[in-house]
Amino acid sequence: MSKPKSEKQPRGARIRDDFTGTTVQRLRDSAGNVCAFPGCFVHTHGANASGDGVVNLGVACHIKAAAPLGPRYDPEQTSDERKHFDNGIWMCQTHSRLIDADQSNYSVEELQEWKRAAEIRANAQLNQKSFTEKEVRVAVDEGSIALLQRFSNMSADPVNAPVAELMRGHELSLANLDPRFSVEVNKNGDRFEYFIQPVAEEVSLQLIIEGTDKIEGYLAGEKALLEEGRELVIPSDHFRLEGSRLIEALHGKVLGGQKGTLTMGAPKRELPGTLYVRTEDGSETLVDTFTFYYTSGTLRTVFEGAALEGLVDIRAHCSHDGQDTKFDISISLDAWRGKDILEFPRFSRLVKAAKHLSTGRLVFELEMNNQLVPYDSRSAEGSEEFHSQIDWMIHYLELARKVAANCDAPIVMVDTEMSPDIYQILRKYNKLLDGPVISPREPKILCKGEFDYTPRCTFESLEKQGIFAMIRISEPDGMKFNLFGQGVKAPRLSRIFTNVEYIFYTDLEFKDKPKFEVHTTVDTAVTTLLHPDDNWSVGEALADVSEVSHQDD
Ligand SMILES: [Zn+2]
Repeated sequence: MSKPKSEKQPRGARIRDDFTGTTVQRLRDSAGNVCAFPGCFVHTHGANASGDGVVNLGVACHIKAAAPLGPRYDPEQTSDERKHFDNGIWMCQTHSRLIDADQSNYSVEELQEWKRAAEIRANAQLNQKSFTEKEVRVAVDEGSIALLQRFSNMSADPVNAPVAELMRGHELSLANLDPRFSVEVNKNGDRFEYFIQPVAEEVSLQLIIEGTDKIEGYLAGEKALLEEGRELVIPSDHFRLEGSRLIEALHGKVLGGQKGTLTMGAPKRELPGTLYVRTEDGSETLVDTFTFYYTSGTLRTVFEGAALEGLVDIRAHCSHDGQDTKFDISISLDAWRGKDILEFPRFSRLVKAAKHLSTGRLVFELEMNNQLVPYDSRSAEGSEEFHSQIDWMIHYLELARKVAANCDAPIVMVDTEMSPDIYQILRKYNKLLDGPVISPREPKILCKGEFDYTPRCTFESLEKQGIFAMIRISEPDGMKFNLFGQGVKAPRLSRIFTNVEYIFYTDLEFKDKPKFEVHTTVDTAVTTLLHPDDNWSVGEALADVSEVSHQDD
């Protein structure tokens, strides 16, 4: 069946269903005054050259033609549909002619996609700066010239030399100052980093450090450098290097007035690390593989590594005589900040490992000087506390994740705070998410009020029907609490009390206002459930944490 036509059109007559002025305006605005043809991006309106008028290069084109015989004409469309905003697309003059050419191969669907894409682009452009192509080119050229000038000191033809070659020339020219070194220059943000490595067998330099009492933590830093090979950073105005033209040049001329730093340290090496849980019966569960970084000094080797994307931080040191080995393992949720708590990396593996921790221990091994140095959390100081810390944290996260899985928006870890109060709340709601919770209740008064007789509703009639056997009470509003820096609102709780007893009485003074009391009995059971009509919603954290209401069961 065809749609009813809003108006009759004589067969073959060339009557066009043109857009109204308002629709044309809306098409232009929603395309951001830019042609919707893919990649065209031409602006369609602007002042004329003399500034006393406006030039309009835009055309509101019909997706399905305005008149019979036009491209993509749809006889099923009503006149209103043909004139509708939905049937229009904004184009520059060139592209309006292209899509409306008689032999046009562009389909309705294609044009609708372009229109949508142009709207999305226009929306993204809102509040953004707009540049002409020429302006962008000039900016790029200026940037390139500055860069070229910076590195052109070695080239006779700086304009035509590729930047990479200039860079290499710069490095070589520096290395030429002292052939005992190779130089690598990297630009890191607005900082230049010079990696200077000796290529000769023996290189001697004199490093003169001045005013060490003014460098914060210098003595401890120097000790750590010597004993453990840790990095020591010295600001440029506190050191001089003598014995190499290269280093002197870098320090003096290249750095110029800029602030630099000298970083000294033993080479940092990598070592594969494996963290797993070993249970009493000897079975092992892999938690993670990661990389240890270590440096050596005169006294000991120090290791640093992070497993589970930074969640578990492991530090160790081992004296060269093997007499002193110490491991420090700590857990911090900071690494997971900003992540959706349902998308923590390797969480399931961590849960599995934690389940084994009650009977097992965290183990990892380091291979050092061809010797395996095992670490075993059971033998470490404070291991009980560490294990219970992991246990609590993982259980907390599991409870929070179950709540998050029911929420209308992701719960992102804005802060890492975990509190015993919230833990109790999470436990309570986790139980309720599994289904109604039934608990007993001591006999006592539940509520009281006034009772209105109606001719058909008397104590006797109600009691006979057994209606008084139970009563349902719902919270006026769901509980709100903070979870990792976001506010969560739970569904309302409903409580159903069964086997309650009603007591009716009348004060002699107010005979027409009978009263009642509801009491729970020894047979009363309380069924608590989440209100089925309510959602879990996520919003801003509550500023006042005392708003977290506590409900007594
Ligand atoms: Zn165009």
